[in-house]
Amino acid sequence: MNSIVANLMQVRQRIELACLAAKREPEEIELLAVSKTFPASAIEEAMHAGQSAFGENYVQEAVEKITQLAKLRPWLVWHFIGPLQSNKTREVAEHFDWVHGVDRLKIAERLSVQRGEFPNLAELQMCVQVNVSDEDSKSGIPLSEAEALCDAIVKLPNIVLRGLMAIPAPSADKAEQRKAFAQVQDCFKKIQAAKSTDFRYQFFDTLSMGMSDDLEAAIAEGSTIVRVGTAIFGKRDKISK
Ligand SMILES: *Cc1c(COP(=O)(O)O)cnc(C)c1O
Repeated sequence: MNSIVANLMQVRQRIELACLAAKREPEEIELLAVSKTFPASAIEEAMHAGQSAFGENYVQEAVEKITQLAKLRPWLVWHFIGPLQSNKTREVAEHFDWVHGVDRLKIAERLSVQRGEFPNLAELQMCVQVNVSDEDSKSGIPLSEAEALCDAIVKLPNIVLRGLMAIPAPSADKAEQRKAFAQVQDCFKKIQAAKSTDFRYQFFDTLSMGMSDDLEAAIAEGSTIVRVGTAIFGKRDKISK
């Protein structure tokens, strides 16, 4: 068995065990395979092992792979998970199904307008990135501002607001990991509760958190999408990050 297939099985098993520990159902968790820096052939291998959702960070690299794999499009779902600059929003609006990591209204507004230029595409699924525990990071808005940003984004056409995304500062300490994820979950649930009668929030069901090193802690704190790269595809080259 090649290593991508074996790794995928192992990651799925980790998700199942984490669900068992957290008394959750594995069906509640979507595995997003983060394929940044890896070639289209690696994505095809994962696809043949039943993987359909893939995450990419760099617009140019991603568009090349999406184009190469265009024939497989009906089976593949593409998530943009990297930091997004204004001058790259058009390509994301044109090529992706999901975008995580939106932390400014201006970016969401551009994506909304630009998605509208592709009437054959479904609405772009969007998560707002919050900044928890990682004070040095420039990405993500403070938890205290998340609801206001969501309220503005949820009104935009061609966008479906799906939930929150977070990348806490890496920590080897499980309790620290859980503490950060718990804060995100708390924020998420507060927004859900406050908007329970607002139909525009009917698809606000997604908590995108957890990576190769901390997916168990994320699942324990309510994650619904784990974004896993290294544990599936192996170590990335330092040069290309
Ligand atoms: C690279 C990346 C991941 C995957 O990280 P691994 O540690 O390789 O699993 C997940 N989320 C985001 C936003 C990333 O940039």
